Amino acid sequence: MAKARYFEIGVTCLEVIAVLLAILAAVYVSIWIGLLLLVLLPLGLVSMICNHDAWIVRRLQTQDNPLILPLCTTGFVGRHRRLLRLLPSDPRCRFCMVPFAGVGKVMGIKPSAMNPNYCRSCFEAMPTGTHEREVGVLFADMRGFTSWSETHSSSDAADLVSRFYANANRALTSDDAFVDFIGDQIMAIYIVEWPSLGAKTADIMLAATRRLLDAVRQSTASLPVGVGMHMGKAQVGSLAAGESKNFTAIGDVVNTAARLGSAANANEILVSEKVYEALSGEKPQADRTTLDLKGKAELLTVFILR
Ligand SMILES: [Zn+2]
Repeated sequence: MAKARYFEIGVTCLEVIAVLLAILAAVYVSIWIGLLLLVLLPLGLVSMICNHDAWIVRRLQTQDNPLILPLCTTGFVGRHRRLLRLLPSDPRCRFCMVPFAGVGKVMGIKPSAMNPNYCRSCFEAMPTGTHEREVGVLFADMRGFTSWSETHSSSDAADLVSRFYANANRALTSDDAFVDFIGDQIMAIYIVEWPSLGAKTADIMLAATRRLLDAVRQSTASLPVGVGMHMGKAQVGSLAAGESKNFTAIGDVVNTAARLGSAANANEILVSEKVYEALSGEKPQADRTTLDLKGKAELLTVFILR
């Protein structure tokens, strides 16, 4: 009798020990799963933020028409933006919504050199390749820089160019223009199908030019600037030279705008007929003329705005 009782107590003890061991094992496993998740979740988040451009790039490469705008219509960027919009904090890329401050700063997200309202990943990291797009192209260059440089030190010349770049950057990048700095001139590319541009592209380009000329006039120790503008189809996208990439526009429209920029006198804005016709409302006062631009087979009708 007593033996059976001892046996029962023994079995109960074993059951209690088994339950305790099961609880201990469950707690142990839970702690490890918890710790693992604690490590994996932030790592996943970091990788998502750091590689967000890779996601876009992968997706871009599967598209027939990979310039970023179609991604808005497929909703891909929309989903991506909804996620990135949740991350702290403003300011953020106007396109993908990745933040530059807060989490973005920690992750090393940097504004694009071509327009600080966008991130590098949206432009500099685009896959190599170009696509035909309607663009407005603006060239602004400092008049008389070469002769001015002859009588000034190289550091004075660098300061002068640097002030010009700063003025151009402020005047042009508040709109969705992508600005490239080339020696003593700048090129701004306006992609017409950009939602903020569209039919207003020519008006926006002219308003930006006027802001730039005003800024240069008000800036001390600056050389006057001449501006040329043209619109038309160009190949837009990322060109690669080895490891370095350049987001740019290539085509006759760019060459013509560059020639117009070089032909403009100080404080003069030379616009092609196409740009002048695209201006909405009452046309600004302008002198109509024809120019024989270097490298162009035909005379070009231009309008001179002062
Ligand atoms: Zn972006």
